[in-house]
Amino acid sequence: MYRRILLPIDLGHVASNDKVISIAVEMARHWQGEIHAVTVVPPISSMVAPYLPQSVEMDTVHDVEARLTDLLKASIPDDIKVSLRVVEGAVYHEILHEAKKWQADVIVIASHKPELGDYLLGSNAAKVVRHAPMSVFVVRL
Ligand code: ADP
Repeated sequence: MYRRILLPIDLGHVASNDKVISIAVEMARHWQGEIHAVTVVPPISSMVAPYLPQSVEMDTVHDVEARLTDLLKASIPDDIKVSLRVVEGAVYHEILHEAKKWQADVIVIASHKPELGDYLLGSNAAKVVRHAPMSVFVVRL
């Protein structure tokens, strides 16, 4: 049922990643599914971009791809099919875009317990839940 599992990974949230990844792995096993991990990096500001070589942007994406690859290799068993993508942009917007493009059945995303600040500002998880056309499994940390 939930065979195409989109897994947004914030490489800065080391503690939460283990829990979210293990739940995605359980889901993939249960439905003989596959996991597609996505990490969003902020775009280089249009103010500074003209002064930097284009290779800086490429290096950033390649470096993040390497870190994400290492994380997935270390935490997802070999028998689960995995793909990954690093994209530039705004976090929730890119997660939703990738989920639709990859035709995910479910997004597995972590969220801390809502606090007042989160409620007013809206966390990435809240925006994904609000706008995703597919199911979203929110993992409380
Ligand atoms: P919180 O709910 O703790 O305020 P966020 O909403 O920022 O935190 O993040 C919740 C989840 O959103 C993360 O666990 C991760 O799945 C996803 N996420 C956050 N930042 C990124 C990112 N840069 N790339 C991919 N996914 C992200």
